[in-house]
Amino acid sequence: MLDLRDLTKIYPNGQHALERFSLSVPHGEITAVIGGSGCGKSTLLRLVSGLETPTRGKVSIDGETVIEPHPRINMIFQEPRLLPWLTVAGNVGFGLADLDRTARDEIVASGLARVGLSDYAERWPKELSGGQAQRVAIARALVVNPEVLLLDEPFSALDAFTRADLQDHLLDIWAASKPTMIIVTHDIDEALFLARRIVIMQPSPGRIMQVLDIDLPERPD
Ligand code: ADP
Ligand code: ADP
Repeated sequence: MLDLRDLTKIYPNGQHALERFSLSVPHGEITAVIGGSGCGKSTLLRLVSGLETPTRGKVSIDGETVIEPHPRINMIFQEPRLLPWLTVAGNVGFGLADLDRTARDEIVASGLARVGLSDYAERWPKELSGGQAQRVAIARALVVNPEVLLLDEPFSALDAFTRADLQDHLLDIWAASKPTMIIVTHDIDEALFLARRIVIMQPSPGRIMQVLDIDLPERPD
């Protein structure tokens, strides 16, 4: 269980970005956080991922406080952030340096298969479309088997067709291993399509306006 308790973040310049933000994140479910630009969404994910420390409050996962980037928590950004000097396979396997070559190759191949890019292993990042590059970023996050996957507006930079395609794909991927996901978006349709719990942020930074639990029948497989 991922628990966010009384998170407050005040940046060194005095900007209050989160104010006593508390949320229990249901295990194995998708939670969406929606709100306009500047309401504190990215700050929230950076705190949950351990990339940034809260001014007050804490993030814990199964009772253990998250104080630095955590191996069980992985993040996907709006831009894929692929390393241009590595092939697609090299990027996907980047976090698996501890494994021997054979094991790594196998995991990379299955990661690429999960995002539908098996034929692209030896391509270079610059040869990919925006949607393909984001699929590679998703594969890279998945191969380390995170318990918690954080997504910061992962599809905002994509055209509507590609976005719909990747939203579908993300739901399939989620259904296969049920990681706990928090997705930040300003797209209400995306939130409703993906999430069971939707956190709506106030326009002024850092506060929750409302938490909605969407009571849907079982999702189709
Ligand atoms: P969102 O992701 O919803 O657009 P952010 O979390 O990026 O919101 O930002 C929340 C508020 O904190 C904004 O007012 C933003 O300008 C401010 N902010 C974000 N990052 C920093 C930073 N590193 N230093 C100072 N202020 C920041
Ligand atoms: P936002 O939604 O606020 O625009 P981003 O997802 O672009 O946030 O960035 C999140 C954080 O990662 C920010 O603190 C930003 O400074 C940092 N960042 C942005 N680009 C890179 C990068 N290429 N490599 C490492 N950190 C980055």
